[in-house]
Amino acid sequence: MPSSLHTKDRMISPLAIGISTGLGTTAALGLAAGGFAYASLWPGSQLFGSTLIAPPRPGELALSFDDGPNPAFTPRLLEILARRDVHATFFLVGSYAQAQPALVRQIVAAGHQIGNHSWSHLNLALASASRIDEQLSRSSQALEQITGEPVRYFRPPFGARRPEVLRAARRLGMIPVLWNAMTSDWKNPSADSIAQRLMRKIDRLERHGRAATIVLHDGNHLDPVANRAPSLAAAAQLIARYTQTHQFVSLDSWTRHSAQANEV
Ligand SMILES: [Zn+2]
Repeated sequence: MPSSLHTKDRMISPLAIGISTGLGTTAALGLAAGGFAYASLWPGSQLFGSTLIAPPRPGELALSFDDGPNPAFTPRLLEILARRDVHATFFLVGSYAQAQPALVRQIVAAGHQIGNHSWSHLNLALASASRIDEQLSRSSQALEQITGEPVRYFRPPFGARRPEVLRAARRLGMIPVLWNAMTSDWKNPSADSIAQRLMRKIDRLERHGRAATIVLHDGNHLDPVANRAPSLAAAAQLIARYTQTHQFVSLDSWTRHSAQANEV
């Protein structure tokens, strides 16, 4: 991920929006709806629309892996997850998925969810409406052809969450998913430093009564077989650390409960 783009992302980070605007909006809506408060799908924002970040369920962790499938590392990651019976969501780059259909099917067969991460990891903040549609629909079509299942989740590359992007995702039946626990694992720092930074974030979220949606990268949009050993080792550390005390959950377990809130 080019650092210039990421720096730009950070200025309008989903965390900032989720916490400062989203929480307030959700809390207000929860009161209006007689205490039916779900912060997982930020409702009510005319600017951004509802987006899944993480619900107010401390102790629940959703792992997600972006920018794959990566034939050099995704199979190893599947082994790590299977060893502890943990399920995750893989946000796949459509063109990579099309090149690795067997690996995509292997992810699904192992009980994980897959999401759309655009066709070529284009920065949709700078794309025309028709380009956005093409990036999303082409990727969904490829994934659905490979798995035979509809794609339910979308994560915008670089976190670019323009209204046009979110609208296009919903038109295709997908829920936009952001995150609240990420570090710069794509720069390949050590596994220890990735894991420690994420643990600090996860523990802080828990103190604030929130679940964590964790992002790690098993792929790299600039290199389909990039080395992701540190990210995988960090995932193993997180699982080892939290498996006794926390619950690793799927995005489905959150969205099922929040479907009503989304319709408010
Ligand atoms: Zn990405």
